[in-house]
Amino acid sequence: MHLSKYFLTTINNYDNMKLFGVLGDPISHSLSPVMHNAAFCALGMDCSYHAFRVKPDSLEYAIKGAGALGFGGLNLTIPLKEKALGIVEPTEMAKNIGAVNTVELKNGIVGHNTDGIGAQMALTDRGIGITGKNVLVLGAGGAARAIAFQLAKDGASVTIANRTVERAQALARDVSKIGDVRASGFDGLKEMIRDTDVLINSTSVGMSPNTPGTLVTSDMMHPDLTVFDIVYNPLKTRLLLEAEKAGAATIDGVMMLVYQGAEAFKIWTGISPPVDVMEKAVRDALGSQHNVAGACVGV
Ligand code: NAP
Repeated sequence: MHLSKYFLTTINNYDNMKLFGVLGDPISHSLSPVMHNAAFCALGMDCSYHAFRVKPDSLEYAIKGAGALGFGGLNLTIPLKEKALGIVEPTEMAKNIGAVNTVELKNGIVGHNTDGIGAQMALTDRGIGITGKNVLVLGAGGAARAIAFQLAKDGASVTIANRTVERAQALARDVSKIGDVRASGFDGLKEMIRDTDVLINSTSVGMSPNTPGTLVTSDMMHPDLTVFDIVYNPLKTRLLLEAEKAGAATIDGVMMLVYQGAEAFKIWTGISPPVDVMEKAVRDALGSQHNVAGACVGV
């Protein structure tokens, strides 16, 4: 490790060099190394974050091995998030969502899910309160589960609309234990959007390479609507272009990615990382399609 040359300040409460990592398969596309290494560099922390390709069958060895090797913490991504529930001690939220994206290795092996809080913070960052708002979540997959649980917990009135309506109904049943929620298919979306304050696309529709895709067009929107697309590749999806056309406010998927990472960083280190540095690192990497694990960027 040659990270000491990047020391800018002294972190008094986090003075050991530590390794961190994201596990998944495939993993080479992950933006987490570039984002976390930028934060470590900016804070002058002698820490390093890397991507590891791990198959589901090896997940338990990988998590326990990282703990034994003194890793500071882990992120998990596809296809490991659900499997981890049987290996770690999940928080209530991770259990509800049914997936773990952050592993804390300090006191035992605790599994968190920070995706929902990432989405919530992306909204509050833009001054959008959640309590009492009508939120329409498109999708009922892993990301939609995290968002629906978090926003219902925060007091939003949540409608989950999904192509496979049975999945929306199953998710709504789960979320109804903690908040106000209902399920729907895609029929009648325009009418639903009339009463919606915040529309969140948490399907993969519009994601590269299928960039012309959108479930909602400008004629279905209104200017008081906030449209949040969690897809970040491309940064400006067709849905966000349609929202601009309708005069609606827009939020792209980068800040959810950044805030879920910032929350993980805080869980591991107790330190609030510089989200502006993390955001710049992610936007630069997306802009250049260049993602080098372990490189000091964004500072
Ligand atoms: P997932 O679990 O596979 O769920 C995919 C969802 O998209 C399902 O609801 C699925 O509906 C729906 N869908 C897929 N193709 C569709 C189509 N042609 N028409 C209508 N609905 C369709 O995926 P995920 O993990 O939730 O991720 C969803 C998207 O969010 C991905 O693009 C991912 O990159 C992005 N994401 C972003 C962040 C961030 O931090 N910004 C975090 C997590 C995920 P069915 O149930 O009917 O199949």
